[in-house]
Parts: sequence; structure tokens; C-alpha cells
Amino acid sequence: MHDFHLHLARLSNPENIADELNRRGYHYVDVGCEPWEWAKVRDLNRAEVSCTGKCAEVNCAAYGIHPMIAEKATEEDFATLRKFLESDTDAQVGEAGLDRRFPGYEPGGVQESVFRRQAELALELGRDLQIHCVGDYMRIVKVLREAGFKASPHGNSTATVNVPRPIFHRFGGDVSAVRTGIELGAIFSLHKDSFRKKSTVAAIPLIPADSVRFETDADESYCPTTEIAEALIKDLGDVQRLYELAIKDA
Ligand SMILES: [Zn+2]
Repeated sequence: MHDFHLHLARLSNPENIADELNRRGYHYVDVGCEPWEWAKVRDLNRAEVSCTGKCAEVNCAAYGIHPMIAEKATEEDFATLRKFLESDTDAQVGEAGLDRRFPGYEPGGVQESVFRRQAELALELGRDLQIHCVGDYMRIVKVLREAGFKASPHGNSTATVNVPRPIFHRFGGDVSAVRTGIELGAIFSLHKDSFRKKSTVAAIPLIPADSVRFETDADESYCPTTEIAEALIKDLGDVQRLYELAIKDA
């Protein structure tokens, strides 16, 4: 199993959870979305390298500045972010994006400039970009295009990680977001909540199968009734089943 967006460093006892997940063949992108998480994400990723021979190939880290803290981001944060990314050439950028629930969402606001800088960094370093969007996907696409993300003739979805791809994490857009995303070679990472809105459920079958990923987005608010690794495996399996149902019914 591969969880395409997980906040391991925000869970309690992340080292134990990482060991347990690796033992069970559950791999992931470990996303650090605030500066305090970055070192933790890096250290967890290092620990995994030694846990079994194979997991280093499939687990990876992402470092970014989430829109919830865009207003607080400093120049020093950007400099540190670049260092983390340069020291791990497999790492993705993000999560970054726009969220109408937090300050600076307005067009031209601070969320947009913090997102734009990370989109440019992803292009400069040749990294995939984990994108958070609660609000207008067309504004995300506009910033991506302005930053230099381009349509590629066959899409970027099967390309190597060196061709930066936008990743629409916890995807909740409609048909037009899917169409524009495909043009930019985007990856669509589906979460349980991606199946809540009718307009998203209707759009999901239009995504090429090789551009679909699954995620739990588990963070500190994730309080399963069972043991955590167990719960993650179940939840990720549920997302996959919801996807299979959605494409079958379409
Ligand atoms: Zn997240």
C-alpha cells in the first residue's frame, strides 16, 4: 500500500508507527507542513532507510509551508526550506497552496505569494509539488502556470520525478479542475473526503488511472479506535474501494 500524503511527524510516537508501517509494507509520502516538523520528517526518513532494505525506495519526504501559516512565513523559513530540499533529492515540495479558512487567502494575498514561491522552488529543483486547496482550483492553476508549470504533450503522469508534477492532494475539485489538472500532468491524490461532494465523485472517473493516488492525510487529529497502523491500513483500503466503486458506477 502507498499512502500518498501522511503527516507522520504530527502523530504521537512516529518512530514506532513508522517501524510498524514499514514492517507491514505500508509506504508513504511523509509531509512536513510547518518549519518545526521538517527536522523530524528528515530524521524519520533516515530511520526508515535502516529499517529494511527496500523501504527507502518508496517512502519519501515532503517539505513545505502550509497556507494555514503562510502569514507567519519568514525569509529564514524559506532559506531553511531550500536547505532541507537540497539535502534530500527525493523529497517533494509541500504541502503548499490556498485555503479560504486562513488569513491571506484573497487574490494577491500572502497565501498566494507563499504558494508561488514554493511552486517556483519545485520547478527550480525538479520536484513534485504537494498542493493543498480549500477554495478555488482555478486560482491554483493560474499560479502554477505563472510559475512555469506547463502542459506536456502526453501529460507528466508517467514521467520521472525530475519532471515536476502538481499533486492535487485530498482532491475535492470538479470536472473543470480535473481537465485543467490533466493538461498540467497533475497527480490526483484521493482521500475519503474526495467522495463527499457529488461534483467531485462525478469528476473522479475522468482522471487517467495512472494519475490516481490514495492518501489518509492522517495528522494529530487522527484518533482511531484501534491501533494506529491498523487504522491507517483500513482507511487507505477504504479509499481504494470508494474509488473502485466510483469508476464502476460511472
Ligand atoms: Zn495534509
